[in-house]
Formats: sequence, structure tokens, C-alpha cells
Amino acid sequence: MKQTTREEPVKITVLSGLGAKAPAAILIETTKVRLLLDAGGPLDPGTACEWVSDLERRGWPDAILISHDHPDHTGSLAQLPSDIPLYCTSETARALPAGRRWRALASRGEQRIAGVRVTTGQAGHSLDGVWLHLALGQGIFYSGDTCLESAVFPFDPPPTAAIALLDTSYGRYDQSLAAAQAAMTDHLKHPTVMPVPASGRAAEIALWFIDNSESTHVGDENLTRLALDEGCHQALARLLALPDTLRRPGIDARLRELLTVPPSATPHLLLVDDDGLRNTWPGFHTLHSGYLTPSRRRQVAAGEATWQRWNVHPRLTDITTLMNLLQAQELWPLFTELTPEWQRDFPLSPPAQKLAMVTPTRALHPTSEVCNAAG
Ligand SMILES: [Zn+2]
Ligand SMILES: [Zn+2]
Repeated sequence: MKQTTREEPVKITVLSGLGAKAPAAILIETTKVRLLLDAGGPLDPGTACEWVSDLERRGWPDAILISHDHPDHTGSLAQLPSDIPLYCTSETARALPAGRRWRALASRGEQRIAGVRVTTGQAGHSLDGVWLHLALGQGIFYSGDTCLESAVFPFDPPPTAAIALLDTSYGRYDQSLAAAQAAMTDHLKHPTVMPVPASGRAAEIALWFIDNSESTHVGDENLTRLALDEGCHQALARLLALPDTLRRPGIDARLRELLTVPPSATPHLLLVDDDGLRNTWPGFHTLHSGYLTPSRRRQVAAGEATWQRWNVHPRLTDITTLMNLLQAQELWPLFTELTPEWQRDFPLSPPAQKLAMVTPTRALHPTSEVCNAAG
């Protein structure tokens, strides 16, 4: 018997993450199923997230799918009913509220979740972090946080999808990671501490540092002048314990070396697992490389710390690459402020178009560069 091929209408609601750097929470609905993609907590510790009560009003979903372990994707899980089936990779499961039950999400592959065919692949951003492809309508792709430039985490090319929900955390930024690294060397003239997500960029910064002894002002003894705190060390050990297909080829020997060399007592570069709360480390210059909380923004503005981006999200060029790979017809740019340029350059979804049309009134004050530095 021939099956009808009529497509089920799909409703997409970005509960949080459209039009601003904000926690990730996306609701996908058909008449048969309701899926929540990510359950982000506040970017600035101690602030509230309103999307959970919005979701409660709409009704709890049939399943929750989590892309990766960072708090802006997992931090509201404790506020959701604990009996909703939750799918994530085992690495992401480490970030769940204590005792939260979870089901396995493939690091790379295909499975059925609440009747929906879900394909996953490595997103290139963090330890076993994945993108999600839902076989609904003509395909829905959600990148989670993604990066095409990582020297540590592979990026798997996705299947085609008409609708692309993409991480555009960097807005219109379009510099390569190589350019960011070149700029970073200037910040490493004195003993420096970098607070970093341990399961994210810590390993790549460590590899880059030991591979660039001359340009990073440290000389031949560089390996012994690097130190990782306990959190970064453990994340590195977990990275090496993953199947090697979840790492870029050719890096394992160097990663193992990083684990075995005893940390320097007087490091030139100290990588610390970032909880977003601590802002000073006596004896070290502080260098931030990602999203800045308001207190850190003030610290940078006052010259008490510096900031230099290390790419862990897509550049504008990468957004175009992703749209082409997906053959996507509609873009939902996530985690950034939308401006008319987005409307000019990409086929935006109607809700994104609406936001892009309202030109933001950005105050031009001395800290505006720092404010735009978030990410
Ligand atoms: Zn992330
Ligand atoms: Zn994120």
C-alpha cells in the first residue's frame, strides 16, 4: 500500500535564544509530538530564566534532547519535571542534576525519539557535543553550539535540511581562529590565567600553547610552564578516554604528553575550569576568551583583565558554509542580536525577520567594544 507523503506541519518556537545572546531552549511541535531542544540556564550566574514558565504554560514536552554540557544549554533542567525522557551523550550526562535519569543520544548516528527520526553528529565545540537533525517536514537542523575550526573536536557534515537553527553567537564576526591566535600571543607576555570551559576550548588552547613556544614568549621550556587545574586535567583525561573517532586525528600523542607532564609550579599559562564566578587569581594576569559576565565586562573595561576571543562558535563565513551544506531554505540565527544585515544576507525565518528589522539603538560608549565581545 502506498503511504501518503503529505508533510505534517511543524511549529518551531525559540523559547530562548532568538535575537540575543541568551540560554538555548527550542520547542519543536507537530500534532503528534513535542520536543524540547536544550534547556539552558542563565549566562550570568544568579539571574533568572523566564522560558521555563513559558514552556509550562504551553505544556511540558514529550522528550528533551540536549546538545552538550555547557550551562547555557543544560542549566534549567532542574526546573523541569524529572520524569520527562531526556536524551544526551554520556559526557553531557555528567552535567545533569544529580540523580536525573537519561537515555543515550548517539554521538554520531540515527535513532528514533518519541517517534521522530533523529540524526546526530559531532558539533566541533566540546567533549562529545552534538548537532541534531530531525526528520520532520523537509528536515530541521539544530547546530547546538558548533565550530568548524577546532583542532581537537571533529565537525561532522550534516544531512540536508530545509530549516536551519544555527549557532550565530559571534554575530557578524568573521576572523579565523588563526587570526585570533596571532592576536592572543600579545596577551601572554606575563604569567597569565585563562578561565575556560574545561570540556571545551581548554585542550585546544593547551595544544596551541605548547606548539607555539616562540610566539607565546615562553621559550623551549614551554611544556613545563603550562599548568591545568584539576577540572581541566580531568576533562583532558575524559577527552582521551573517548573513542578516537570523537577527536581530530593526529593529536593523541600530544594530548597524552599534556596529561603526563607534571604541571609547572610557576606556570606562564594557567588554564582553569571556569565557573563564571571567580574573577581574580593573585600573581596572574587574567585573560578571558569567551562570553563576559557583567562583572567581568566591568573588569575588562577597567583594565583589570583583558579579552581576546578564541573561536569556538561559527564565523559568518561558516554560517554560509553550513547553509550551503544543509541546502537550507530558512535560517534561524541563534544567540545573537539581529540586524538588517542578516535579512540582507540570509533567508530568515519570519520571527527572525521581524527582529532583524528593528535596528537596535546601540549606545556608543567606551566599553561598546567590550560589550560586543561577548561569546
Ligand atoms: Zn557551548
Ligand atoms: Zn552555548
